[in-house]
Amino acid sequence: MKGFETFKSLDELDTESKYLIHKAKEAAHHAYAPYSKFHVGAALILDDGTLVTGSNQENASYPLCMCAERIALYVAATQHGGKRIMKIAIVAHKKNHKELSAAASCGACRQVMAEFEERQNKPFEVIMHHTDNQWIKCASASSLLPYAFNKESLKE
Ligand SMILES: [Zn+2]
Repeated sequence: MKGFETFKSLDELDTESKYLIHKAKEAAHHAYAPYSKFHVGAALILDDGTLVTGSNQENASYPLCMCAERIALYVAATQHGGKRIMKIAIVAHKKNHKELSAAASCGACRQVMAEFEERQNKPFEVIMHHTDNQWIKCASASSLLPYAFNKESLKE
């Protein structure tokens, strides 16, 4: 698929991506996931090298749960407005906390990432852990959500 690269192991990825994955794994330890036991971490890097992380935060009222990616993105916008997102990595721990699980961003996060890309008028890379210990790098967040709903959809 155009715009997507698959890596058979972590070693094949570039240094910055490995660093972000490492930071995303650390962030996953701060997840609050007593219900799903699915601990997710996200780490993004801004154009000045600033690192921002997020972890999923659940709630007994399930619809209020928030994904790690969106937390990282919203923190970046709030605390580092005006800086450009270069790359984001997302990982998830299996319930045993010993191995990583596949971590495909949900549709809501893809929607939010696409709009962040639109806001900064420049694509950013998305790295996700895939099955069989593979890694996927997408050149652009919006490629994860073709024909997305966006501000054009709201025009009269
Ligand atoms: Zn999500």
